[in-house]
Formats: sequence, C-alpha cells, structure tokens
Amino acid sequence: MSSMTRREFMAVSAGSLLIASSSDSAGQSLDQGKPWYATMRRCGQINFNETDPLTMNPDAGMDYWASLKVNAVLLNGGGIVAFYPTQVPYHHRSEFLGSRDLFGDMVAAARKRGLRVVARMDCNYAYQEALEAHPEWFERNRDGSPRREPECPWLFKTCMFSPYFTDQMPAIYREINQRYSPDGFFTNGWPSTGPLGICYCPACQKIYRNETDGVPPEMTDARSPIYRKYYEIYMNRVVQIWKLWDGIAKEKNPESVYVGNLGGGIYTTKDIKQLGEVAAWFNADHQGRSGNSPLWICAQQGRVAQSVMAGRTITNVIGAYSNSQPLWRHVSKPPAETTLWMAQVTASGMVPWYHWLGGSPEDKRWRETGRAFYDWLALNEPHFRNRRSLANLAVLYPQSTIAFYQTQGARERRLNGEIIDPGEYLQGLYHALLEGRFLFDFIHQENLTPEALRPYRALLIPNAAYLRDRECEAVRHFVTSGGSLLATFETSRYNEWGEQREDFGLADLFGVHVAGEVIGPHWNSYMHIDQPHTILQGFAGTTLLPGPEFRVKVSPLNAESLHLSIVPTYPAFPPEMVYPRVRRTQEPAAVFRQFGDARVVYFPGDIARTSWRSGNPDLSHLLINSVRWLLGGQLPVSVQGEGMMELFAWETEPGYSLHVLNYTNPHMTKPFVREFYRIGPLHVELKMPGGKHISTVKALRLGRELPFTQAAGRVTFELPSVRDYEVVALSL
Ligand SMILES: [Zn+2]
Repeated sequence: MSSMTRREFMAVSAGSLLIASSSDSAGQSLDQGKPWYATMRRCGQINFNETDPLTMNPDAGMDYWASLKVNAVLLNGGGIVAFYPTQVPYHHRSEFLGSRDLFGDMVAAARKRGLRVVARMDCNYAYQEALEAHPEWFERNRDGSPRREPECPWLFKTCMFSPYFTDQMPAIYREINQRYSPDGFFTNGWPSTGPLGICYCPACQKIYRNETDGVPPEMTDARSPIYRKYYEIYMNRVVQIWKLWDGIAKEKNPESVYVGNLGGGIYTTKDIKQLGEVAAWFNADHQGRSGNSPLWICAQQGRVAQSVMAGRTITNVIGAYSNSQPLWRHVSKPPAETTLWMAQVTASGMVPWYHWLGGSPEDKRWRETGRAFYDWLALNEPHFRNRRSLANLAVLYPQSTIAFYQTQGARERRLNGEIIDPGEYLQGLYHALLEGRFLFDFIHQENLTPEALRPYRALLIPNAAYLRDRECEAVRHFVTSGGSLLATFETSRYNEWGEQREDFGLADLFGVHVAGEVIGPHWNSYMHIDQPHTILQGFAGTTLLPGPEFRVKVSPLNAESLHLSIVPTYPAFPPEMVYPRVRRTQEPAAVFRQFGDARVVYFPGDIARTSWRSGNPDLSHLLINSVRWLLGGQLPVSVQGEGMMELFAWETEPGYSLHVLNYTNPHMTKPFVREFYRIGPLHVELKMPGGKHISTVKALRLGRELPFTQAAGRVTFELPSVRDYEVVALSL
C-alpha cells in the first residue's frame, strides 16, 4: 500500500462528485447553461474565393453542410476581400460581387437550416488603395518598403501593432455585426502559435525605441534580452487585440465570440498558456500532414491544446484537400487519411471543423468522406461529450524548450555542430507511449500545480531543458507527495530562457550531478547492463544496449546503485578497429531511485530522441519498462493483441469511452494512408473508476453491443476487430 491509495482516493472522490451532480440534475446534459460554442459538436467551412459570387448557390452549398449535421458553419465575411456590399472605406469588395450579397445569402441559407454562423475574416493583408490611404497600417521591411504577399504581390501585410487592428478591423466587425449578427468571428492566420514577426513600421519602431531598448533579432533568440522583452510586449498585444475583438463580437450579441487561429502541433513559440487564458475557444489550424510526419500528430495537437484549455472548447480544422508536399488545394486527400484525421480529432476530445476551398469544386470526393464520418458522430453524440480523461500518466509539454532551445530560427538547435529538432525528444517518448499502449495527458509546464497533477500517478519529462524555478519546485513537490517521475537528458539544466544553472534544477531528484558539458553526437556508444532491475527485463541474450547519441556527463554512481552504465564510443569503421577501448565505467546511463512510494527514473542521455531517430526498439522498450515501473502496475486500461494504436479513455455523459485509433499501416510515418489494415481481436480490461457498474458495452463503429464481464472493479471484453477507429462506449 502506498501513495497510490491517496491518488486512487482522489480519483474516486472526483468521479463520485461528477456522477452525483449528473444524477442530481435528473439526467440533464452538462451542456446546459454553457455558451453555444461550448456545446458545438461538429462544424464545417467552405472558404470562398473571390470569384465565388459569380456561381455559388447558397441552398445547394448549405444543403451539403446541413447533411453533415453540423452545428455551425464558417463563412467568409471580409478582411482581405468583402463578400457583402461593405461601406467601410478600403475594405475591398470582391471584384465579382456585382449587386450580390454572397455572405448575406449564405448566412440566410444557414439560418434556414438551423445552423449557427461564424464570420470567417482575414486581418493579415489589404490592397494597394489601403496602403496609399493608410501607409501606417502596414508592416515594413528595414528599408521601409511594404511587405507583399509572395504569391499575390498585389496584397500587402498589415501590422498587428498598427491601427489596422484597432480601428479598421473593428469597423468591419461592427458593420457585419449590425447587418448580420453572426454567432462569432474567426480570423484566419492570426495570431498563430509560431515565431514572432519583426516589423519596421512607425508603430513598431516606436516600441523598439521606447520599450525594448533596441530592435529585436529577426530569428527566435531567447538569449537576447531585447528579444525577451519584445516577447512579452508581443504576447501582451495579442491578448489585448483578442480581448478587444471578443468585446466587439459581443456588442450586438452577448453570446457571440471571437476565436483566433492557433495550432502548430507541438511546435509552438507563442506562449499557449497565455493564449489559453484569453481564448474562450481554441481553434487548432492543424489540417493535415506532409513530409515524414507521423500519423498521430493530429491527436498530439489535441493533447497540446488540452494542456491549456482543460476541457474548454477546442476545434481542429480538417483539410479535406491534399495539404501535402507539394500542395493541391483543389483535389481531395484519400478518404482513409481524412477519416483517420477526423478520428484523431474526436478521440483527443476536439471538435471537428471540416474544410474545403471554393464554392464550385470539380473534385467532390471529399464530400462523402466528411458526410459518412459526421453522420456517425451525430448518431453517437452523447458518447463524445467528455467530462475528464481517465489517464493516470502526465507528460510535461515542454514549451520553453521547444520554443527556445538555443534556437537560431524557430525549430533548430545546434548541439556540438549537429542540428537538433527540439520536438524530437517529445516525439520519441510519444512513440514509445503508443507502443506501450499507455493512457496519458499532456500537462503544460506552466500548469504544474498540485491540483493539476493530482489525478496522475507519474509525470514524464522529455528533455524539458528549460524550466522555471517554480516549475522545478512543482515537480519536486509532486515527487515528495508520492508521485513518480521520469526525466531525460538536459531536463532542468537551464531556466525558461536558457540561462544555465550550476547543476540540474532537479539534481536532488535525479540523484546525480552535472559533471561536464553535453557529450556527442556519438554513434557506436553503448549502455552496459550491470545488474538486474525490473526496468531491464526483456533483454535476455545481451548485456549491451544501444547508447544515446548525446548525453550529459554526470557524476559517477557506486557499484550497488549502478544498473546501466555508459560504454564510451569507439570506432565503427574499419571492422578491425571496432572494439571497445573502455569496457566499463561508473558513469550511469540511467538512474533508478525510490523514495517511499515515489519512483524516479533519470536518463542522462537523449534516449527518446535517439529512439525516434534510429528506430531501434531496445530504446523504446527501455522507456516502456520505465513507465510501467513508475506506475507500479496501476494501468487504467490494458489492451492485448497485435497492432500499433493510440488510446484515449474518457469519462463521458453516459459513462465511459475507450477510443482506439488503428495506426497499423505502412503509411504511419509517411503520408498518405490509402487503406486500412484491420487489427483484432483485442482483449481489453478497463479499471472502473470508483468501482462503477456498467450496463452495456457497445462498439460504436462496429455498431453492436459486446459481451463483457464485470468483477473486482474491472470490465473485460473482446473487441473483435478495428478497421480505422473504434469507440467502445461503456454506459452506466
Ligand atoms: Zn509594425
């Protein structure tokens, strides 16, 4: 018996309270009393182009969206191009608008079908006539020239610090509000979560003169005090504009809302904790994948957004078009890829926002893909109303490290000459967690409070090199309260801006000290198994494991504490020279510790990143074993059977749900999925929170009830097969 008792007690108490409150309200949905967008389950968007007023048929277009049973549609109001007869000066009317009011016609068609309307706006560009009348609205290069849109050089980039954002956009919002009273406003492309921009317009120059003591570097560089000051000013401006626009949205209709455009998956530079505080609704513009992106980056986006929204509304835009490399805006993605993307959106607790460009598509294949999935969602809607995650594992989302890890340019770091992608530490751990079939949530580093950590048995930190003192303190508090910890590589080596500490901020937990700078990149270095440990099971037949590419040199351990030690690199070529010069060291490759109920695993090497880059399963096996040891057998869900999958489990309005995303596919790490490879049968065992009794188990995609057994607080059943995605609904 252990601190698990305390944690279980907390989980049971929280669960009981929620159940009690739902029965008190006589089965009424928890959606009652929430703003409309907080209860939205499905939405869609047709992105108008300038010629659409010539041909677009509002009834035909809106019939499609109504057939998807969406709650809301996003329709182009204005910004760059007005799709209604605007009177706001320099608000460019579509050259093909004629006497039409396309936005008004579409709003009417949507309302006739009972759909909410969000006016989709773009605040980022305006035309030459605006530039001539209001030169102060626009971003400038160092030489004073305005910035043209590269593909459409007749458009000029507007500046967020200029009155375009405080005067012109508000004038447009107010005009649309007066005429159409939409249910919300959305801005394309702003603010984004990406790197900050640098502009030389008069408004920005004034900031550089009066507030930052100079011009900030054009590339992300957290080492520069000017950049840090600018970061704060920039974030404050985003928040100020967001609040201003939300206030304007509510002037005509207090239920209305402003929603900005976020996303970026794990690669965020702007502080999403701060954005999450101002956003009533977080929209992730994470439309698809290209290059060598793994399939799961959509679900991962959901986890990032959840780490700051804590159950509040999150939408994710689904590009039905081929957003690949190269890009095709007007042909469909394969239905299998689009379907798995939509499935990840709903599995991770986001609301799908299905998106196509242009009102007269020649490729109509995407339509049925969206309709089939949305139909199924609508049919099973209560099971997608989540109350809380059932995960007992928290993964720290290390935003400061991803944003600032000694970057020169947003995503790169050079470590002893090698270019590092700071997202790979997290990606390697993520991959291992999927292989190990764990349930986990992301927790943003700035949200590390005892309350936020309470539901979790263990916290995993994938190289959060940059951590605030108070964040280190929160981790320490978690461990001293009985929580378990896994950390890797340079975790806590620097503060949030990259100033190096004398030692790890968490050296007391790791049980080792920094003894030198980062070593590597090295191939052909190893980890030697010195003595048995639960974490080192499953490596029969070898005492040597592949070593990390980089490691922090740490203080030696004595022989009784040493389980896995470093074997330094030796030549890999030519074969005659391939032998270790030093066979054994006292330098730990891992530290396994236990204080009371808390267990700590620290890897001084970048083993998660090395695992991701090399694909060597020994490394992910080591990570999986570590997590299992930290959890001490406390698994809320166990799924046995072949296949690669991602799992989510939620407490829902009717009971509980288990989401199984089938990633078993040759296109798991390279787009696009063309077809599915069925997995199953899967043997599932679910620990019922608070020992709750359930009445039915239904596989929602198979569309049938499953036999199950229920004993000792556990429900077990066999899931016969999963084609693309399955949601098993367990109703009370
Ligand atoms: Zn500017």
